[in-house]
Amino acid sequence: MTPNAERSGRRSRSADKLKISFEFFPPKSPKMEAMLWESVQRLAPLAPEFVSVTYGAGGSTRERTHATVERIIKEAGIPTAAHLTCVGATKEEVNDVIRSYREIGVKQIVALRGDPVDGVGAKYEAHEGGYSGSPALVSGIKELGEFDVFVSAYPEKHPESSDFATDIELLRQKVDAGATKAITQFFFDNDLYEAFVERVRRAGIFIPIVPGIMPIHNFTQAAGFATRAGASVPQWLANRFEGLENDADTHRLVSAAMAAEQVEDLHARGVDEFHFYTLNRANLVYAICHLLGMRPVKTATADAE
Ligand code: FAD
Repeated sequence: MTPNAERSGRRSRSADKLKISFEFFPPKSPKMEAMLWESVQRLAPLAPEFVSVTYGAGGSTRERTHATVERIIKEAGIPTAAHLTCVGATKEEVNDVIRSYREIGVKQIVALRGDPVDGVGAKYEAHEGGYSGSPALVSGIKELGEFDVFVSAYPEKHPESSDFATDIELLRQKVDAGATKAITQFFFDNDLYEAFVERVRRAGIFIPIVPGIMPIHNFTQAAGFATRAGASVPQWLANRFEGLENDADTHRLVSAAMAAEQVEDLHARGVDEFHFYTLNRANLVYAICHLLGMRPVKTATADAE
């Protein structure tokens, strides 16, 4: 058992009830497009509730996000949540994107404030004539269509946040504006997630707080990314990957086992819904889902092949 599983001390429940979703990013080149599409086709038979496509920092992938979302909806027939940020854009520019999502059949939007173009840590300022922040963006989206709106949540606090109370108050504002689900920043210590959800529930917020699961493709890179995102990297996790820097095969096996155990432990703690950060690569996520007892079902894409 991993430390996560040891701590919970409970056995995993059946995989039948698990709901899963997969996050992709819009590809930059034909080669990356081919990789993304291969991943979509490999993961689609696992019958995700939805997949989502990110919106590059500062809106830098506006067209590519749109094109990727459109292709997944049309060719794979999977409900697709389009991400959208309001940083660095006027309300009208953002509203145009919302309308364009509506036109291609998007029913779910992941609404985010986003980071300033200068990156994480740079002070956020609402754009002149723009949405003031994520709660206002959620309201704006709800006004423009019958979208389900999902938002972010941070089990270890947002890096800019002074305390949990501020973050949870902001989550409340997002829910009051119409958000129906929160997806978390990735984390590796399930106790931190559980403590966060308890705080959220104590604050009277009852929307699903779906854990974001990040399979580790490269531990060194993931640790750096985690530090920037404000997610802690427990020593026991580092120990698991020690010495595997030049051993990709073992690294992959360890990663799949670790993430599967993290999900099983969360499931044992009562969580039934999971969002996987795929990084557009299917193999690890597919293996994790298989370990969790999920099996492919026939899909439109599989039939078309
Ligand atoms: P919010 O939840 O709105 O706010 C973040 C923090 O800012 C708060 O916790 C608080 O500390 C502070 N804050 C905001 N408003 C106030 C206020 N009025 N008073 C006091 N403090 C305030 N980024 C992208 O660019 N594209 C994506 O597609 C994308 N997808 C993401 C998906 C998920 C599931 C997650 C968790 C993050 C994603 N991000 C994405 C990253 C996100 O844009 C950054 O973390 C950004 O810094 C915050 O956006 P947010 O909507 O999460 O912020």
